[in-house]
Amino acid sequence: MKIVHYPHPALRQKAAPVTTITKELQIQVGEMLDLMYQNKGLGLAGPQVSLPQQVFVLNFEGDPEKKELEHVAINPTVLEQKGSVDDREGCLSFPELFAKVRRAKTVKVSAYNLKGDPYEMILTDLPARIWQHELDHLHGVLFIDKLGFLGRMNVKKELEQFIKEFYDAREKGELSTDLEPKL
Ligand code: ZN
Repeated sequence: MKIVHYPHPALRQKAAPVTTITKELQIQVGEMLDLMYQNKGLGLAGPQVSLPQQVFVLNFEGDPEKKELEHVAINPTVLEQKGSVDDREGCLSFPELFAKVRRAKTVKVSAYNLKGDPYEMILTDLPARIWQHELDHLHGVLFIDKLGFLGRMNVKKELEQFIKEFYDAREKGELSTDLEPKL
């Protein structure tokens, strides 16, 4: 399992709802958690590891010691949202890139855990931001899509660099896809 970087087409695929929690999915989720912690991330979604299923993992502090802050979200949703706040955001599929993104300040969310039990939480600020960011991934939406004109201008150079790296890697046969990138 590998984290794919923008503009890998897997990032634009819409993830399918999970209908059965298989042993295979449990193993994949474990690998996703390992990858998230190794890369010092706060969240990682299925499409980011070419797994087109509605699942993401997160830890609100990215600290593997703090298991109480770690969650597996299967078929996640946002039930209610309140307020809005602009803050800096990054993504493991865009290494070293950060941009200010507007998100709801507080969200009431629901999902199933790895045992198949449903749960709900009310999240505010950074935890709410992480949940919304990861949920977007399941719909093929990336944080750069949320930028306004100026925000987009500010990251233009970095995005061009990611696109160049994608084509270079594909030319060298390092990518698992023949599909065209989706910008
Ligand atoms: Zn992301």
